[in-house]
Amino acid sequence: MTTAFDLLADRILSGGAATTDDALAVLRTADAELMSVVAAAGRLRREHFGNTVKVNYLVNLKSGLCPENCNYCSQALGSQAPVLKYSWLSKDETLAQAGAGLRGGATRVCMVSSGRGPSERDIDKVVEMTSALKDAHEGVEVCACLGLLKGGQAERLKAAGVDAYNHNINTAESNHDNIVQTHTYEDRVDTIGKAKDAGLSPCSGLIAGLGETDEQLVEALFALRELDADSIPVNFLMPFDGTPYENTWELSPTRCVKILAMARFVCPDKEIRIAGGREMHLRTLQATALHVANSIFLGDYLTSEGQDALADLEMLRDNGFVILGMDQGAFDELIEEHRAKVAGRAVGGCGSACGSSCSDACGGHDEPDSPVIRRRGAGTDVAANA
Ligand code: SF4
Repeated sequence: MTTAFDLLADRILSGGAATTDDALAVLRTADAELMSVVAAAGRLRREHFGNTVKVNYLVNLKSGLCPENCNYCSQALGSQAPVLKYSWLSKDETLAQAGAGLRGGATRVCMVSSGRGPSERDIDKVVEMTSALKDAHEGVEVCACLGLLKGGQAERLKAAGVDAYNHNINTAESNHDNIVQTHTYEDRVDTIGKAKDAGLSPCSGLIAGLGETDEQLVEALFALRELDADSIPVNFLMPFDGTPYENTWELSPTRCVKILAMARFVCPDKEIRIAGGREMHLRTLQATALHVANSIFLGDYLTSEGQDALADLEMLRDNGFVILGMDQGAFDELIEEHRAKVAGRAVGGCGSACGSSCSDACGGHDEPDSPVIRRRGAGTDVAANA
């Protein structure tokens, strides 16, 4: 049976574009029709990305201590979330953390720092780190995410070999002032423009679950289409205790899949990345979501733990995907290496809230109720989850 979503996919594959009404219809589909949406959006995913998944790895260069008040952020001014707080990692520590992610299967390293925006000295540090990273790992892609850029900074990053710059719009312009008051939506768009003008690949996405309406989610997606972001990270709010969004739960797993499918219909040939909140919100639908999205973060997030890196990779293989840039044999070998590594230690966190670091005593969790604060990887003496 041909569904309305198949017809939408046909239209897009023939060069048409999704309208705001199409996007709203995807978002408001009954759960009983979820697989029709996934099947149709999956045709667009396959057309542009085949069975590949881009694997990215986050390195939090500077954690917490931010003067901005983004209400959703565990690192924000006023946040009481007990996240790791540290100033800039050294170049060697950055190399070590990034290397763990690359050995773990990632091809892009996303170097992130908290703060309103970088100083020229901060840019010096990232320039040095990028150059060392590129020397040590041939072909590595580097994305920087350092906040609001000032004139000339994007050009310096580009000259150093940085490939992409991430700066999320986060939400619709019409909702922006409800989620942060220390900078404006225009500030964010300005930085994305500076990155693009300097020749950096623009990476910009959103956070769902911030009290936005369906129309505002659609507004945000169409703004990203207009901005022509190459990569679109779709985050699902992780409501950290100690932040204004503590105990805010607006999302269901099916809703998250529909949001990702909407992103695919609106931006069919762009990298749609399932970002923060993947485990806690998609739960058993993570693999289903990969049939419309084509990119994930491996392992942990900036301030919270993700599921074990091996679980990420096995999920990809179990569902017939391979890591972008890796053939099946190399992917199989990578998984065996991870299994051997895991056999030699207790398995890491599962993205839930039990606080046990998921030792052998952990029997798994049905429904996490708050993010698990990251206590390993960057800024700690504990091995990274990669
Ligand atoms: S999102 Fe970035 S700018 Fe906003 S509070 Fe968090 S670290 Fe600071």
